[in-house]
Amino acid sequence: MSKTLPPKPRRLKGGDGALSAAAIASGVRSGEASAEEIVRGRLDAIRKDDPTIKAFLAVFEDGALEAARAVDRKRREGGKLGRLAGVPVALKDNLLVTGTISTCGSRILENYRSPYDATVVGLLKSEDAVIIGKTNLDEFAMGSSTENSSFFPTQNPWAPGHVPGGSSGGSAAAVAAGFAPVSLGSDTGGSIRQPAALCGIVGLKPTYGLVSRYGLVAFASSLDQIGPFSRTVEDSALLLDVIAAKDPRDSTSKAAPRNGGYAEGIETGVKGLRIGLPRQYFEAQGSDPEVVSSVRESIRALEAAGAVVAEASLPHTDYAVSTYYLIAPAEASSNLARFDGVRYGLSEKNAPDLGALYEESRGVGFGAEVKRRIMLGTYALSAGYHDAYYEKANRVRTLIRRDFEEAFKSFDLLAAPTSPVPAFKMGERMKDPLSMYLADILTIPANLAGIPGISVPSGLTSKGLPVGLQLLAPAFAEKTLLRAAFALESMRPFPRLGSRD
Ligand code: GLN
Repeated sequence: MSKTLPPKPRRLKGGDGALSAAAIASGVRSGEASAEEIVRGRLDAIRKDDPTIKAFLAVFEDGALEAARAVDRKRREGGKLGRLAGVPVALKDNLLVTGTISTCGSRILENYRSPYDATVVGLLKSEDAVIIGKTNLDEFAMGSSTENSSFFPTQNPWAPGHVPGGSSGGSAAAVAAGFAPVSLGSDTGGSIRQPAALCGIVGLKPTYGLVSRYGLVAFASSLDQIGPFSRTVEDSALLLDVIAAKDPRDSTSKAAPRNGGYAEGIETGVKGLRIGLPRQYFEAQGSDPEVVSSVRESIRALEAAGAVVAEASLPHTDYAVSTYYLIAPAEASSNLARFDGVRYGLSEKNAPDLGALYEESRGVGFGAEVKRRIMLGTYALSAGYHDAYYEKANRVRTLIRRDFEEAFKSFDLLAAPTSPVPAFKMGERMKDPLSMYLADILTIPANLAGIPGISVPSGLTSKGLPVGLQLLAPAFAEKTLLRAAFALESMRPFPRLGSRD
């Protein structure tokens, strides 16, 4: 843990957007820093730069300062402070926080006030983290660029006019811009790893079931998973330590194998670790050669540090995108049936009858991509097509899962690019949904298999756009992922944006 601490006598200043969560928490616990000053610093940075970046849908100025003051008071009174004492955290706006609006990036929930905290939010609060706001996303997390938000698109902090990736683009941009050291997103087909790659930060999708989904607005329940964004690998480990917990309110959640915290042993290096390079991931359609060469260079660094690297094969990779676009919309069409104009959010009350109320509320409330997914999913599930589409997709999902099981007989980890391309220009892929869907070709298979994946910065392209390297591991092997990611971070120090103060 001491690695990220700033040199001792220096007093931590709230205005330093480059401070890690680990450094903030230990500074606040020791009294070197005040939570209020730290939070004020981030709120100032948001006020100054978020009008251009647009990472946030809501900033909790008063609530965050109040929570920070409560943390400082607790310390003064000799109370025991939590592992995230005074750490500002930004949350994707599909995570519920009691008493605040959760829009999911949709008009249909524009005024929906959360009646309870998501389990992860309760866990953050219990460790004295400070929730500073809710971040922008593609509507109901459907998209890869944050342009499907019903409110506005978010800018990539590295490159104005470029997308931050999606669907958790606001959470990724907030961390890249230094508005918060860490944030949470959700990953159904790549929505943490892909925006992390495009914004030059760390993004971790845990094993399916490791983090409770209670209080995460469901998109595709068999694929959704909550995870952290951070600027250091250690911070992702720290966040995972807090949010990974079995939860009786999510029947798919599982107890994490507890052999110390996720940061424990993170610095032990990659000597002897067997890393496979899935051939298909390096030959993906539309891959940018600069992305591939940056990732290969990072892999050579891991090899030089003692990893044993060889080619691997995941033969069913080509079917992953079509499989996902049957299963995810099918589950979404069922999950989104609850937004009917009666129970939640927007309601077209002047409709002449109940049928019209449903139609008009959903017609006005949902955007084009969400409607497209509901139609695709309803079709895939309808009588007569169910076997041909949904069932068949589930069988192919098993084949994809088995590809990984087979590969992990020979390898501890798999390494590849996270996204075949760096950040693309706004508007570039909006007219062609298929080109947008293909942005997730390298991230979707891990969701279908339920395994964990992390994206770590690998370098920059000649145009100065971040490239992400993805590491995949067997279920519950997050520690191995974090260890290799940490080794890479130490050998190839990540380029960072200025602290934007
Ligand atoms: N881009 C993918 C989709 O649109 C993945 C989204 C996600 O992971 N939430 O479905």
